[in-house]
This record gives sequence, structure tokens and C-alpha cells, in this order.
Amino acid sequence: MTRSDELYARACKVLPGGVNSPVRAMRSIGRDPLFIAKAHGCEIVDVDGAAYIDYVCSWGPMILGHADRDVVEAIEGATELGTSYGAPTEVEVQLAEAIADRVPSIEMVRMTSSGTEAGMSVLRLARAATGRDKILKFAGAYHGHSDSLLVDAGSGLATLAVPGSPGVTTGSSKDTIVVPWNDRDALIAACTEHEFAALIAEPCPANMGLVPPADGFLELLREQADANGALLIFDEVISGFRVARGGYQQLAGVTPDLTMLGKIVGGGLPAAAYAGRRELMEMISPAGDVYQAGTLSGNPLAMTAGLATLGKLDDQAYSVLALRTHDLANGLAAAAADAGVEVSIVSECGLLTIFFASSAPTDYEAAKACDLETHAAWCRALLERGVYAPPSQFEAWFPSLVHDDAVIERTLEAARGAFEAVGR
Ligand SMILES: *Cc1c(COP(=O)(O)O)cnc(C)c1O
Repeated sequence: MTRSDELYARACKVLPGGVNSPVRAMRSIGRDPLFIAKAHGCEIVDVDGAAYIDYVCSWGPMILGHADRDVVEAIEGATELGTSYGAPTEVEVQLAEAIADRVPSIEMVRMTSSGTEAGMSVLRLARAATGRDKILKFAGAYHGHSDSLLVDAGSGLATLAVPGSPGVTTGSSKDTIVVPWNDRDALIAACTEHEFAALIAEPCPANMGLVPPADGFLELLREQADANGALLIFDEVISGFRVARGGYQQLAGVTPDLTMLGKIVGGGLPAAAYAGRRELMEMISPAGDVYQAGTLSGNPLAMTAGLATLGKLDDQAYSVLALRTHDLANGLAAAAADAGVEVSIVSECGLLTIFFASSAPTDYEAAKACDLETHAAWCRALLERGVYAPPSQFEAWFPSLVHDDAVIERTLEAARGAFEAVGR
């Protein structure tokens, strides 16, 4: 029995399914979870000593790679000063300033401990600001697991094929209208029929696999939100500080009213945020009367890790990451073609999904129709060859700044073998 097997058996007795977040169980690729001992740079090592090139990178936060020296030293320094006070600190002001400096639509920030919390809180704010109840979200988009957003939510849910979730009351989901991503007519029809508090979207969805907006779709969202009297919320929990210094809204040139941030913003520790224009954000307690709070919100260690991470993400870093992602995407496409395996690879700076289909999906239905079985077999074959890719097609690869040319070449070598294994 390996150490992983033993830990998994023990975990299953004390943790539901043996894990603390479903996708880690690796059920969608039909194998047991990895139990991790340590990680450094682009390499992650399991408790049996097997090393993998890591493309999960904690699902996005580790854009500098694992155990980045500067981030670790900053956290170590902060721990000496105490780990939580439940009172204001300088570093949370600095991180909020750094965020506002990078994202022009953001004047004020409220820190939370998870993206889920940011999502439920930003909806409360939008409902308070508009005096309306209903929200519009897109099929396959994930905005955390709060009740009203846990409808057609992609990722873990898509993979586990649970439609929404038991335990979500009809009362809490009845105000959520779900529309197919990239469907202009459906969006316009929904906005004609309902008065929304908010339209919420991942501007470049990555939780049904990476499915970028069609030309003009984000502009249409902005237009429809304005015509409807709804606020536009961009969930940049993944795309924020990953695709560009100012997030996907910078690339797209479309400005939301409110933005959700997470993952990179905590530098690998638990932190997230919702943010936006001053007059909206000042409705939040104690500036206004929209209540929202958190014992560990703005935790000094997490703020320190986030600030140290953002500090290293300059324009140069994004051009390097964009180039490496591009090389990885091209190399994977060539490897698949050589092995005669049909795939469509979609990528953005720091994000990539490989769909086993002849054309790239433009919505959740199309993403679900890809060859998930071959994808799963390919992921298992990659793991056997030392590459840890997201164990679900409804996720994105998260290459980091330490996935250099040599690492990408090793990845492509493994990918060639894996394509041959599934192509046969
Ligand atoms: C991960 C994620 C969330 C939820 O964040 P948690 O910190 O896991 O609660 C919300 N939105 C998007 C787009 C995400 O990828």
C-alpha cells in the first residue's frame, strides 16, 4: 500500500469523499487523488515522492510558481508580527491601493476570505443598490457556491453532473435567470423580460474550460445592463491579474460596475475581494448599511502574500507568460496532430484548455459534448508521465512564470507520449 492509498483510506473516514473540495478527488478522470507533500517552482511532489510538473497551481493563485522566495520571505516576516488581529492594518490598505492602481474601474475594495464570499456579497450590494432581486448568470459560469449562484455552475458541478445541488431552495434559485454564454438573442430576450439587479459574468469564462467571449459579446452585456438598469459584475477571480495587469476588462476594454477578485490576489493564502466604484462600495457597512463582515477578512498574512505577488507582476511578466502559454498551446496542438488525435486548444495569457473536439466550444452545451473519456484517459497518461494537468476538461491549465522553455519542452514530450497512448 502506498502512502497515498493509506492517507486516502484514512481521509475517506473523516472527510466527505476524502477531500475538502470536490474536483481534487479526481473522480472525473477515474483515479484516486494525489496527496501532496510539498511544491517548489513548477514542481509538485506527492507523499510517495513522485514529482509532477504542476499545471493546476492551486487552481490559479500560484502565478509566480510555488514557494516563490520573495513571497515566502514576506509571509515569514509577517508571521513574526502575529497572524491575525481582527483590526485594521497598513498592509490591507496597501493591497487595496495596489488593486485600485491596476484596475481603473476599481476605486474601493472590500476584502473577503474566499471568492464564494465575494460572490454572495457582491450580489447583496447589487440588490441593495438597485432595489431589485433578480440576477442573470451564464450557463457553465462558476461564481462560488452560494445558493443563488449555484445554478448551472460548471467545473466541479459539470464534472460531477449534479444539476445545481440538493439543499439549494427553490426560493434562493428562483431569482436567478440562466442564459447560454455567447447567445446574443437569449441575453437580449432575458433583459427584455426581466428587471435585473445585476448581470454577472466571468468575462473570459474558465470554469467550463476556457470559452472566451465572442466578438462584441461583452460590449453587448454592457449595453444590455445599462438599458435594463442592472449593474454589470465581472467575476475576475481567475482572470484578474492573470491575463493582464488590469484583468480581462483591460484586454476587452469593457468596464464593469463591480468586480470580483480572488486566487492571485491572496498570493496562495485565503483572500478574495469585491470592488468597484466609490458610490456603490460606500453602501457597504460601516460606510453604508449593506451588512457584510468577516473575522479573518484582510488577514495580514494573506494581504502580505497578495501584495508580494502583485508586486512582481509587471508588464514584462505578462509578456513572458503570454509567450510561454502560446508556445505551450502550439506545442500541444502539434503533438496531437502528430498522433492523429483531434483536439481544439483555446488559450489566453496564463490560461489554456484542451478540448477533445474538432472545434472550440462557444458555450457550455458544446463544452459538455466534447470527448470527455479520451480527455480523462489523456490526463491519466500525462500523470503517468509526470505532468499534473487539471483532472477535468471543465477547468483551465494555469501555467506560471516559472514554467520556462525547458519545462514546456518536458511537458510536450510527456504530451506526445500521452497522445500516442490515447490515439492507439
Ligand atoms: C474559484 C472561483 C470562484 C470561487 O472562489 P473560492 O475562493 O473557491 O470560493 C469564483 N469565481 C470564479 C470565476 C472562480 O474561478
